[in-house]
Amino acid sequence: MLERGEVANSWRRERWDSLRLLTPNWQSRLPGLRYEGPDPDGYMTAGEVTEFIERFAKVSGAPVRTGVNVTSVRRAGDGYQVTASGGEIHARTVVIASGACNEPSVPRFSDAVPASVAQVTPFGYRDPAQLPDGGVLVVGASATGVQLAAELRRSGRPVTLSVGEHVRLPRTYRGRDVLWWMETSGLWDQRYDEVEDLTRARRLPSPQLVGTPERATLDLNALSAMGVELLGRWAAVRDGRALFSGGLRNVFSLADLKMERLLDTFDEWAKTEGLEAEAGPPERFVPTRVPESARLQLDLRSGEIRAIVWATGFRPDYGWLHVPAVDAKGQLRHQGGAVDSPGLYALGLPVLRRRKSSFICGIEDDAREVIGQLARFLAVRG
Ligand SMILES: Cc1cc2nc3c(=O)[nH]c(=O)nc-3n(C[C@H](O)[C@H](O)[C@H](O)COP(=O)(O)OP(=O)(O)OC[C@H]3O[C@@H](n4cnc5c(N)ncnc54)[C@H](O)[C@@H]3O)c2cc1C
Repeated sequence: MLERGEVANSWRRERWDSLRLLTPNWQSRLPGLRYEGPDPDGYMTAGEVTEFIERFAKVSGAPVRTGVNVTSVRRAGDGYQVTASGGEIHARTVVIASGACNEPSVPRFSDAVPASVAQVTPFGYRDPAQLPDGGVLVVGASATGVQLAAELRRSGRPVTLSVGEHVRLPRTYRGRDVLWWMETSGLWDQRYDEVEDLTRARRLPSPQLVGTPERATLDLNALSAMGVELLGRWAAVRDGRALFSGGLRNVFSLADLKMERLLDTFDEWAKTEGLEAEAGPPERFVPTRVPESARLQLDLRSGEIRAIVWATGFRPDYGWLHVPAVDAKGQLRHQGGAVDSPGLYALGLPVLRRRKSSFICGIEDDAREVIGQLARFLAVRG
């Protein structure tokens, strides 16, 4: 196992200070290791996640070589030539587990933002004090965007949030963490070959969830109540002005509708499983409040916005992979983890084999199956 940094590098180096998992502690499990602390319903800090993964590296006895950066993988003979900072390796098979979130995904028009406005991505952001005083525009209302908008607003700054397509979820439903429902109802186990629109499922933004000791819901209504101004999707920059789409009402109704459908699915499942008495009564949540007149423009030269936080998603980096298996969007082409090149496999990507694939609790089932395929490949090839 080659790791360019240290074990749990992304949790050590690429997360902001206040980040906690949005998955509850009881859901943090790796093969042979599970959370056994006093707070199963709590959410780990990034430091605790690092310790958890470090412990797993020890318990599993994984042969990790840290500080070894892989700079090239190319097809050679009956396998792959791997160039790494430690030297050359020839491998019959390679498993790409380099992560789905190596780089921030930032729209091209960020180049046209006036230089007087600071720009930061989740990789560079640590805490509110690091940004210049004044207003902040957070772009993107998925898990990262809503968490950072709330933190910045709490620090006393005026915060504007640009909202595109998003996934709204309550933190708890009928007395349980919403991820309990996802997992126990079997939804998170849905396989990649059963998902209706796999390409879309793989691109779905992360849900609006935050892990706090209060188990609070952090949806757009909660942010509006804190004084965060909501705007539509950021479409372009023209002459120093940021231009936003209208139609927030439609964007909000779609997210509300999808949440309602999901909760209906949970209710149906609870009924068929006979859990009606055990779970609390079904809940429905007020629709997302639409601002009376959302602004369609912001003058980025006026001084109102001093900093922009790009919470517009992440993407993998395959700059080192010299095998024609990456599509025009920079995503790896694979079938349930078997990459379009013999002996090459992947793990840890969104909906790789199941809806839970990119979460910590998703790796065990995926790894067993993908490594099963790899072992069969080697057996057949002698
Ligand atoms: C902001 C954020 C919040 C998240 N919150 C949760 C959560 O609440 N719960 C949850 O279950 N999951 C969460 N995730 C998903 C997270 O990706 C997984 O928890 C987990 O980190 C995935 O592990 P991984 O090993 O697949 O990828 P990573 O953690 O990204 O690890 C990949 C490793 O590969 C190394 N690497 C990359 N390229 C090379 C190279 N060329 N040579 C050598 N080494 C290389 C990197 O240094 C890194 O250590 C979150 C992700 C992000 C970005």
